[in-house]
Amino acid sequence: EPELAGDFGILMEWADQHRRMKVRTNAETPDDCRMARQFGAEGIGLCRTEHMFFDAARISAVRQMILAEDEKGRRAALAKLLPEQRADFKGIFEVMAGLPCTIRLLDPPLHEFLPHGDAEFEELANATGYGVDHLKRRAGELHEFNPMLGHRGCRLGITYPEIYEMQARAIFEAACEVASESGESVVPEIMIPLVATKRELELLKALVDRVAQEVFADTGTSVDYLVGTMIELPRAALMAGEIAEEASFFSFGTNDLTQTTLGVSRDDAGRFLNAYVDKGIFARDPFVSLDIDGVGQLVSLAAERGRATRPDIKLGICGEHGGDPASIRFCEQTGLDYVSASPYRVPIARLAAAQAALKD
Ligand code: PEP
Ligand code: MG
Repeated sequence: EPELAGDFGILMEWADQHRRMKVRTNAETPDDCRMARQFGAEGIGLCRTEHMFFDAARISAVRQMILAEDEKGRRAALAKLLPEQRADFKGIFEVMAGLPCTIRLLDPPLHEFLPHGDAEFEELANATGYGVDHLKRRAGELHEFNPMLGHRGCRLGITYPEIYEMQARAIFEAACEVASESGESVVPEIMIPLVATKRELELLKALVDRVAQEVFADTGTSVDYLVGTMIELPRAALMAGEIAEEASFFSFGTNDLTQTTLGVSRDDAGRFLNAYVDKGIFARDPFVSLDIDGVGQLVSLAAERGRATRPDIKLGICGEHGGDPASIRFCEQTGLDYVSASPYRVPIARLAAAQAALKD
């Protein structure tokens, strides 16, 4: 088990005395959360819930849900997933013991949930009673040429609200259970991904608020919670003043924000970006270190516009850049409240946040 003992532990303590920004982690399993806490994480900045659905035992229910013809079929498949999601969140809330937990509602590129190959279609046909041809036709209807610019993020929650409803219910039920069992406060921060417009957030926040009230009435318990959004599209950054009317927090998704601002695919960038760095077109790989002159401007503009609307808006970053020292310095200067990094990068983020604060 990792532990920050000895000289390294002392160095980390010194860093903590000087940094202003909090350091959270990107994690979605209790094991990762535990490890991140040992490394000093002060909360979860990004729990990517789609990762919970790839488990071999669950993928069939997920595929049934995605390929269902109608809402009734989706709800039937989602009912099977609810107890498992509740257990997922319970496990996380228990380990995080009252620290803030930002849970992002589902954001998969849809193709990752579709069956591939005859064997997977046949398995699904056996599970659902639909014929293979029917399932293939349905999968064809959902096929996208550019899944990363397609039916993902909050768009999925808009078209299939019952998915987000199930997740919100699982989060609130788990939070109420852990709060009453432990006597500690559990304050979920529910995050809506890939928002481009205020209206998307307005509709989905209303859904989350309604489910919260239902769960609180059913369980006779209640918890405080926040609803906020990722800022990961240039339009969202530009319209941050308006979007902040519906958001208690913003978390900058600089992976997608870099992809969509530069028009460079985050999955294929390696093919030419090295040459760009060699020729000095970019000082560093913009998917590793924030392109401060470009993407960074959208971050600071959104922070400024968000704060103008809601002075107490909580601001963080959860893209890969949240674990990169040069980008962390930029986050300090922009006045973000926290950075979030993968568990192994938490110590470097603590150190970089302290160095940035000292430099300032
Ligand atoms: C991002 O886009 O920066 C982000 C954190 O979300 P994901 O990497 O899951 O798209
Ligand atoms: Mg993203």
